[in-house]
Amino acid sequence: MRITVVGTGYVGLVSGVCYAKLGHDVMCVDKDPGKIRILNEGGVPIYEPGLRELIAEVRQAGSLSFGTDLPNAVRRSELIILAVGTPPLPNGEANLAYIDHAALEVAEAMNDRKIIAVKSTVPVGTNERLAGLMRSRSAVAFDSISLPEFLREGSAIHDTLHPDRIIIGADSEEAANKMLELHEPLTDRIIVTDIRSAEMIKYASNAFLATKISFINEIANICEKVGADVSQVAEGMGCDRRIGPSFLQAGIGYGGSCFPKDTNALIQIAGHVNYEFKLLRSVVEVNQDQRFSVIRKLNAIFGGELEGLNVAVWGLAFKPNTDDVRDTPALEIIGRLLDAGAKVRAYDPVALDNFRTLLGREGVTWCGDAMEAAQGTDALCLLTDWPEFAGVDLSRLQAAMARPVLIDGRNVFQEKELLGTGFVYYSVGRPSLN
Ligand code: NAD
Repeated sequence: MRITVVGTGYVGLVSGVCYAKLGHDVMCVDKDPGKIRILNEGGVPIYEPGLRELIAEVRQAGSLSFGTDLPNAVRRSELIILAVGTPPLPNGEANLAYIDHAALEVAEAMNDRKIIAVKSTVPVGTNERLAGLMRSRSAVAFDSISLPEFLREGSAIHDTLHPDRIIIGADSEEAANKMLELHEPLTDRIIVTDIRSAEMIKYASNAFLATKISFINEIANICEKVGADVSQVAEGMGCDRRIGPSFLQAGIGYGGSCFPKDTNALIQIAGHVNYEFKLLRSVVEVNQDQRFSVIRKLNAIFGGELEGLNVAVWGLAFKPNTDDVRDTPALEIIGRLLDAGAKVRAYDPVALDNFRTLLGREGVTWCGDAMEAAQGTDALCLLTDWPEFAGVDLSRLQAAMARPVLIDGRNVFQEKELLGTGFVYYSVGRPSLN
């Protein structure tokens, strides 16, 4: 199939590459010429494990190309996939300006019947609205498909090639069948729905996962007060097949470009039909507060006096294996530390440059490795569970720090590893050592 993917970000690039891997003829277009130049020179503008190698492989095979010429790409394609960003507006609603613009550009370029599939996460009813917009610009017939994306950054290629399910929201049987054919090599769990239900499945899935995270974080907070261990609690809960073990890791809460934005957007979607989504509002509130548990613990240890304190921060990305810093908890935590007059030494294996740009303020020493960040500090806050942190030599770490205070925001270490070491150790929902 000849496919154009519009938007070459985390979703568009990975999807485009994976469709090419399946043998389709894919053109990835982006309005950002800088991104396209990097890709055409053999580079990759984002960090995603395995992506560089897979791009090289499919380009070698001649099934993937990159460009900025959207009209040309559209004319040569049977399927156009929209994967542009839908970032949050200040009121929590999804900003649909990019997808509206992309849809209009596609409409103006269409020369014969196309399938238009929306992979971007968009509020219920958006596909219908986009179709109306496109019809106002073009007399060429097309079929609309809602094709929500469920990949996780950090394991995006695996998730795309081995998805738990594919959801195809369609209003035409013919287009639905073509999409079924396209995705059949990936999984036998393909569900065809109406378009509005497909749009809702995406929001409901993310909202449910966010709910699991906030739920276990509240259980963790109670565990801290009653002397229980949330890791054991989560293991015990997760064995129940009705509950399942995933998304029950207590920590400093979710971040990233999806859960915060999609939970807020769903609250707005509900609000527009006069439904107050009370449960989801609480999920968001709990998540916001959970970030600051790190600050509360530091305050408890240092008697509320953080001024002049030297604090190491390990991990800036919102989760491991990505350089994405959109809505990462580290941003607000470091902001609070700086506001309180602390000095911060920060390290992340791949997200440091992106984070530095995002933070946009002075007061942080950017470090090239974890030990350098810990050097001479009074406390260390671990905010992202990058695997390299778990393997750190604790006696070296202790020797590097001025005071061995470890706030483990992701429960990376086990209490038994730290027993007798002299570390003051606080994790989330587990007994502290002090
Ligand atoms: P992104 O910001 O990384 O990429 C979007 C790209 O679209 C950018 O490169 C931008 O330049 C390009 N773009 C915008 N307007 C364009 C236009 N008119 N023509 C061509 N290119 C254009 O975004 P992302 O993280 O890939 O997310 C894309 C969508 O997928 C969002 O709706 C998001 O909610 C959803 N989603 C994201 C993830 C994820 O993990 N990142 C997972 C599932 C779903």
